[in-house]
Formats: sequence, C-alpha cells, structure tokens
Amino acid sequence: MRFEILTIFPEFFRGFFEHGVVSRAQKKGLVQIGVHDLRGFTHDRHRTVDDRPFGGGEGMVLKPEPLADALESLDIGVVDSDGRDGTTVVLLSAQGRRFTQAVARELASLDRVVFICGRYEGVDERVNELFCDRELSIGDYVLSGGELGAAVILDAVARLMPGVLGNEASSEFESFGLGDASVSATVDVDGVPRSQHGAGGLLDYPHYTRPAEFRGVGVPEVLMGGDHLAVRKWRREQQLRKTLRNRPDLLEAAVQNGELGEEDLRILERLRADL
Ligand code: SAH
Repeated sequence: MRFEILTIFPEFFRGFFEHGVVSRAQKKGLVQIGVHDLRGFTHDRHRTVDDRPFGGGEGMVLKPEPLADALESLDIGVVDSDGRDGTTVVLLSAQGRRFTQAVARELASLDRVVFICGRYEGVDERVNELFCDRELSIGDYVLSGGELGAAVILDAVARLMPGVLGNEASSEFESFGLGDASVSATVDVDGVPRSQHGAGGLLDYPHYTRPAEFRGVGVPEVLMGGDHLAVRKWRREQQLRKTLRNRPDLLEAAVQNGELGEEDLRILERLRADL
C-alpha cells in the first residue's frame, strides 16, 4: 500500500514515520510513504503556495496550481463520475466527514491513499471539487494544518494492513474493532457472549502488567487467578462499564445493533443502578 502526502512542511513527518509500527511497516515493505513538498511545484522565484482570499477576509488560502501539479505528477487527474480504482484522494479539513475506525478499514482496502494537507484558512475549494474523493476531519476541533490529520489517519490505516502488527488479532480485538460482531451475541461460549473476545461496538477493557502492586495499587484479583472464564467475564463487564461511563453514544449503538447479549444487558442494568 502506498501513501502520498502533499504538504508545505515535509519535514514535519520525519520523526513520526521513523518510529514504531509505521516505521516497521515500511521496513517490511508493507507500506510505502511519499512526502511531497508543494513548494517543489511552484514556478515563481518566491515559491509561492498561498494567496489572498477572493471576497476578502482574514488569512491566506493554499493556491490550487501547485496542488494540481503535485497530483498530476502522481498521475492523479480530475475525478470523474466513475471514481478511481484503488486510489483515494483525501482532503484534510475541519469541514470534513468524521474519520472513524470504519473509514480506516475502508481505506486499508485500497492500494493508494493520497493526503492533501491544508494550511492557513484552508485550500482553494476547486481542488476539493476537482480532485478529492473525500473530505475528512479527525475531530471536532480546528488544527493549524492537515499534517497532523494525515499522520493520524495514516497510522490508523497502516496498523490494519495484514502483517503490520505482530499479532493479527490485535487490530480486530480492540476498541472499535470488528471483534466478533459477525457472530450473533446470542452465540455464547460458556455463557459469555463470543463478542467479548473482541471489542465489537464496545471500548477495550483495561490492561495490567507487572508489578503486581504499584504505588500501593494492586491488579484486580481475578486476573491473577488463572480462571479464564472468570477473566473473560470480568473483561466483558469492564468493557461495558467503560463504554457506559465514557461513550454512552457507542453503548446505545451497540444496544440498537443487537450486539449485546442478555447477560450484557443484565450487567448494564446493574452498572446503571450503581451510577
Ligand atoms: N478555516 C478552516 C480551518 C483551517 S485550519 C475552518 O474554519 O474550517 C487549516 C488546515 O488545517 C485545514 O485546511 C485542514 O487541512 C487542517 N485541519 C484543521 N482542522 C482539522 C481537522 N479537524 N481535521 C483535519 N484537518 C484539519
């Protein structure tokens, strides 16, 4: 899979891609990243990438020509009604659709993802209209540039590529993971819904490692006991508890989608009463 990043700050990405999962993915040849300096696609002495907004107002706007030239250098033309095959062009934008794990999974199935990083007040809208397949926001706040957004999305997508994470299961069985959503919640293993192996629509459960006691705080007893069924039950309850407390919206969706089993609903009732 290839990622292409169009930016006026190519240096921004250096440290980021040299560490951890993304670095390993590149070394294994599973992921390639091209970072392209927009100033390399200017033709004036000052290498101008921005200009004043038509209609007046604050700030500057990224000019369309260097972006179009950069895209064309990657063999990416104006998008037509047929869309593109295997490639998607993403405009990072506070006005975009929200980036989620579901979008990450969609992008992970493509061959190439191209990111356009805005700066200043944003990018001339015609770039969006002509070249972009999607406009994505990484959250409801305003950043000063699209670079952080591109880095966030790239990281989330790269770790979904087969072979990138050491343990294939790890990306499936975590917060927002698919978990066992394909398996109906009514299919139980020893009375605990199968989906408890994965996060399904729930957040992940808390993790602990050594030492067994840290600053006077111990590890929950059940995790030390070696009773696997008890561990699974405890983890499931923790998932429910955390999702209820931090993301009631996700919990509501999980209920609506029928992802919770009867035991889950009983636990929830108890947790709600304790709130
Ligand atoms: N005037 C714009 C903000 C521009 S911020 C507005 O009010 O919507 C400058 C650039 O930062 C944007 O072009 C975009 O590329 C990036 N950016 C800002 N917030 C973002 C977000 N939440 N998600 C992704 N990119 C964002």
